[in-house]
Order: sequence, then structure tokens, then C-alpha cells
Amino acid sequence: MEGDRRTCLIEGVVTAPHHLLVTPAAPVDPSDAVVSSVVRHLLEVMRSMPGCRGLTAPQLGVGWRLMCLDVSGHPSTRSCSGELVIANPEVVEAADWDVAREGCLSVPGLAAEVARATQITVQGVRPGTGEPMTFHADAFEARCVQHQIDHLDGLLFLDRVAGTRAVHAVRKGGQAA
Ligand SMILES: [Zn+2]
Repeated sequence: MEGDRRTCLIEGVVTAPHHLLVTPAAPVDPSDAVVSSVVRHLLEVMRSMPGCRGLTAPQLGVGWRLMCLDVSGHPSTRSCSGELVIANPEVVEAADWDVAREGCLSVPGLAAEVARATQITVQGVRPGTGEPMTFHADAFEARCVQHQIDHLDGLLFLDRVAGTRAVHAVRKGGQAA
């Protein structure tokens, strides 16, 4: 998609094809005041969209390594850290893969079976204070974190699909991250 600079906006979220969705995002300075304003925007959009369990800065048109998530109430959730915002996150341990269906706000109308680790340890920093953070996630929360970090690495869930048979059309209003 290099060179495709079209901006496809659905209620503020960029959708494929958009260059930020295929471009690795840049590390951020968590104490930068501009980072705080992007974090506020991320949370506003995530909270405003039914079914949205996570969101990243590139999906809002900002190529920075910032993500938020909140898997509270999802039926496949076991670990639940509530509403989390992480700058410069990385998975440092991963184990026990399984396959489940995913969707994405930036890929409307499609879902696919994607293999992800069900046990992960994540390190990053808190926006604002820059305080280092490490947390463990499992089940759906682990899947959601990996989906968001893929966005920060310029990957979509479709890049993780083994073949077109694993891709499905979904009705509007389906689950999305
Ligand atoms: Zn997504």
C-alpha cells in the first residue's frame, strides 16, 4: 500500500487501505504533552464505539506506539485489567496458542480465525508519568493486546490468516478491535 495516501475515515478511525495500517509506528516519549492528548482521543473513541475492545494511535491517523484496551464484560475474558493505556508496549513472554475469530474497526465487514498466544507478559510505560509497567494477560485480553501490538507493527489480523477459507464476511455491528 506504499504510496496510497487515501484517508478512509469511519467515525474517526482509519480503515484499510491506509499507509499507517501497514507502517510500523514510532516509539513515543510518554511525558510529551501531545501524547496525553492522543491518549484522551484514543479513550474517547474506544468508549464511544460499541464492541470496540481496543484501539491504537495509528488507527486514529497518528503513527505512534500507543494503545488502549478494555475487555471488561466480554464473554471470553478471564484476566481483566480494566481500561489500560500503554505506550511502547511489547510482548516479552508468550505461550499456549489457540485459534479464535477476530475483527477490526479498520477492516470493516471481515472477520477471520487467527492463532494467538493465550498467555502473555507485556512490558511498556504509562503515558504521562513514563512509569514502567509489566502485566500478565490471558485468554481474550491476551488476544486483544496482541492484535493492538500488531497494529503498532504495521500488521492487520488478515496478515496472520493461513488462507482465505479462514476469512468471513460479518454483519455491521460485529465485534471489532
Ligand atoms: Zn484492529
